[in-house]
Amino acid sequence: MISVNDDEDLHFRKAEFDPADCPQDCSRPCEIVCPANAISLEEEKSSAGHLWNNNEEGKKQGGVLTERCYGCGRCIPVCPYDKIRVHTYVRDAAATSELLRREEIDALEIHTSGRQTLHFRSLWEGLGDTIHHLRLVAVSFPDVGDSTISTMNAMYSIMEPRLRCFNLWQLDGRPMSGDIGRGATRESVAFAVRLAAASDRPRGFLQLAGGTNAHTVAGLKKHGLFQTKSVSENFKDGQSMVGSLGPLDAPIGGIAYGGYARKVVGRILSAMQSQHGLTCIEESPDYLFKALAEALALVGTVKCYDVPS
Ligand code: SF4
Ligand code: SF4
Repeated sequence: MISVNDDEDLHFRKAEFDPADCPQDCSRPCEIVCPANAISLEEEKSSAGHLWNNNEEGKKQGGVLTERCYGCGRCIPVCPYDKIRVHTYVRDAAATSELLRREEIDALEIHTSGRQTLHFRSLWEGLGDTIHHLRLVAVSFPDVGDSTISTMNAMYSIMEPRLRCFNLWQLDGRPMSGDIGRGATRESVAFAVRLAAASDRPRGFLQLAGGTNAHTVAGLKKHGLFQTKSVSENFKDGQSMVGSLGPLDAPIGGIAYGGYARKVVGRILSAMQSQHGLTCIEESPDYLFKALAEALALVGTVKCYDVPS
C-alpha cells in the first residue's frame, strides 16, 4: 500500500530545526516528548549512517532525523524558544501514477481533509487509469461532523466510475494519538459507532485509525461492532461480489494501528539497539520474533491468532 495526500495533511509533514540556533542551556524538551526518537542533539554522526536534515558542512550534526519523524507535532508546542518549524508536502498525482504504473502496488490510501472534495477530485482524476490494477482503495479522513457523510458520498461518486476494487473508509478519529493512552481510542470508536449506524453512507468497509490502541477492540465490542465478515465471503464462485455489497454489508472491517504499534514495537527496537547496537532487526531473529509477537498480540483478538508467548 502506498499513502498519498490530496492537500496539506498532518500525516505528510516533518518537523525541522537548526540545533546550532538552540540555546546551550535548553533542557531539550523536544527530545523527551518525541515518540519516535526522531530528535537527537548529539554531535556525532548517526551510527546508522542516517542523513540528518541539517548536515551542511560546518554545522553541528543532529536535530530531526527526518526518516523517523512522522509529523505528530508534539515537539512544536514544547519548544520554549519557538525554534521548530514544520515542512509539509503533498504527493502529487503524477508521482503517484508513476509508482502505480509499476504494478507492484496493491493498495492506495488517500488522506483527505473531509471538508471539501475539490482536491480529492483533482487527485483521483490525475491518477487516470493507473488505478485499475489496485485491489483496494482506502480513503482516510477525520470526523468533520454533520457534513462527514455527504462528503463521503461526494467522494464515492467521484471514485465510482473507475473503481474496480474494494474500497475502505478509514476513520481517523484522533489522528496520531493511539500511544497517548486508553482515552485516545474513545473518539475513533465514537466515530465508528456513528458511521456504522448511518444508512446513507456510501459503499465500502469501515476501518478505524487515529487513536487506536489496545483498548479499541473492547470499545468496539461494547457497541456490537465486531461482527466482521471475512473478505472471502465477498467472493462467490471465484467472482468478486464487491459490486453487490450494500452499505450495511460493511461493518468494521479493520483497525489501523499507527502510533500505538510504533510504541510497542519501538520498545523492542530500542532494547535491541541499546543492548547490542544493532540497527537492523532482521539481523537478530530473537528480537524480530519478539516484535512480531507484540504485533500479533495487537491483532490477535481480532483475527483469532494464537499469539506465541
Ligand atoms: S513531529 Fe513528532 S515525530 Fe516529528 S520530531 Fe516532532 S515529536 Fe518527533
Ligand atoms: S526545545 Fe527548542 S530550543 Fe530546545 S533543543 Fe529543542 S528545538 Fe532547540
